[in-house]
Amino acid sequence: MPSCASSRNGSPNNPAEEPTMNRRELLQALAAAGLGHLALPVRAQAQTTDAGGNPLAIPPASPKARVIVVGGGMAGTTFCKYMRMWGDAVDVTLVERFASFRSPILSNELLVGRRTSADLTFGYTALRDRYGVRVITSAVTEVDPVAAIVRLADGRTLSGDRVVLATGIEFDPMPGLTDANAMPHAWQGGAQAVLLKNQMAAMPANGTMVLTIPKTPYRCPPGPYERACTIADWMKVRKPRAKLIVLDANPDFVAHRDNFSNAFFGLHSQVIEYHTGVDVTFADVAQRTLHTSTGQIQGDVINLIRRQRAPAIVRRAGLATATERRFAPVDVLSYASTVAPRVHVIGDSSATTQPKAGHIANQEAKVCADALARIFGGGQPDPQPVTNSACYSTITATQAAWLTAVFQYDPVSRTMVPAPDSSAASVGWDREHFEEMEEWFDALMADSFA
Ligand SMILES: Cc1cc2nc3c(=O)[nH]c(=O)nc-3n(C[C@H](O)[C@H](O)[C@H](O)COP(=O)(O)OP(=O)(O)OC[C@H]3O[C@@H](n4cnc5c(N)ncnc54)[C@H](O)[C@@H]3O)c2cc1C
Repeated sequence: MPSCASSRNGSPNNPAEEPTMNRRELLQALAAAGLGHLALPVRAQAQTTDAGGNPLAIPPASPKARVIVVGGGMAGTTFCKYMRMWGDAVDVTLVERFASFRSPILSNELLVGRRTSADLTFGYTALRDRYGVRVITSAVTEVDPVAAIVRLADGRTLSGDRVVLATGIEFDPMPGLTDANAMPHAWQGGAQAVLLKNQMAAMPANGTMVLTIPKTPYRCPPGPYERACTIADWMKVRKPRAKLIVLDANPDFVAHRDNFSNAFFGLHSQVIEYHTGVDVTFADVAQRTLHTSTGQIQGDVINLIRRQRAPAIVRRAGLATATERRFAPVDVLSYASTVAPRVHVIGDSSATTQPKAGHIANQEAKVCADALARIFGGGQPDPQPVTNSACYSTITATQAAWLTAVFQYDPVSRTMVPAPDSSAASVGWDREHFEEMEEWFDALMADSFA
């Protein structure tokens, strides 16, 4: 798999140079190299593997440069690991509110009983023991973006040379939604995904489920459509007379249009009813009813995926000045906030031209770690970063579709733009793609958490 960063020396694996690498080559490289190793700087490989290629434990950092990372999800963990590998003796502290990470990726599989919570739970042992990251389980309540100080829920403060915010998303409030568990979003993995699974299991065989898709930008553009297909396929077996009503706030499918429209209007047409341009305005919990821009709709189960934004600590720090003040704009050479240069924002909290996705979060984290390693060493960020994205969508219990894209830095717009001829998608779905999806997931999670 081509990597995100550090390709300045013209690695033969640089996707910008080989945009036509086919999907199988891409996946083989990904599985073999854990998403990023093909284009790592040589110094990083030498520091972190023994002669047999096995990871070496890294001794604790001596206090040189100090980085405080908030959020131990896809972006934050990857950043911590690679910052410790690439930044000689950089002191890295991760503050994460939960003791482990519950993956949203593949959580649609959890809803229909094909994966368990344990399958989707990842801990911080490797970060701590193998890479020498200090891990603190606590919530950050406030960020001082100028002084690079964070305040924890227990009153402690931590200061660093840099703060990296990898806090993911939070949801807009919904009028009437007095109990968020009554209409779960199940969009952050964990407890809400289990809750939605249980609500679906308890639904009458001829019941109605409603799934809402928020306006873009939201986390994982194909995710809600994948969820609809996964649930429709499950309903055919488990709730044969049930119906799934999908209310999309957008005017059309946001991603994978060909595959999802074939699935919605073909394969799953007897289960899925799809409405576009529908905004939810009020949630009546007692009546299990949504008030929308086109009328009211009742459901036995309501999966209310609300509109998304960077969490409050990012917005309160004044960093979220883009996309209706929802997300934090960054310089994509280093992911430094355009508002406060000592704060870096990676993953879904940032506003970039790349999709809000776990694979991209992993890539942004590596670009940021590489940039900080260079900056702490007295240099400048790589002027030509490259990132890539891969996404699989289950269409049935055993079949999946996929899409990939490569992004490269455009010095004129100072954004990441799709590399020529790099975007590709499967024509249809099949069992082989499903198996590749499982390999991809294992490689991605190992690259971030192992
Ligand atoms: C159903 C579904 C399917 C998906 N499928 C794919 C896919 O196939 N491919 C793909 O690439 N992506 C996929 N995604 C998207 C992916 O899950 C997200 O884009 C990714 O998790 C974003 O990474 P992040 O680090 O920005 O946020 P997260 O992974 O959400 O991590 C944020 C972390 O920050 C912590 N945090 C937040 N605030 C604080 C605070 N104040 N103090 C301390 N800790 C805090 C949170 O607890 C969390 O652990 C999917 C998502 C969903 C919902």
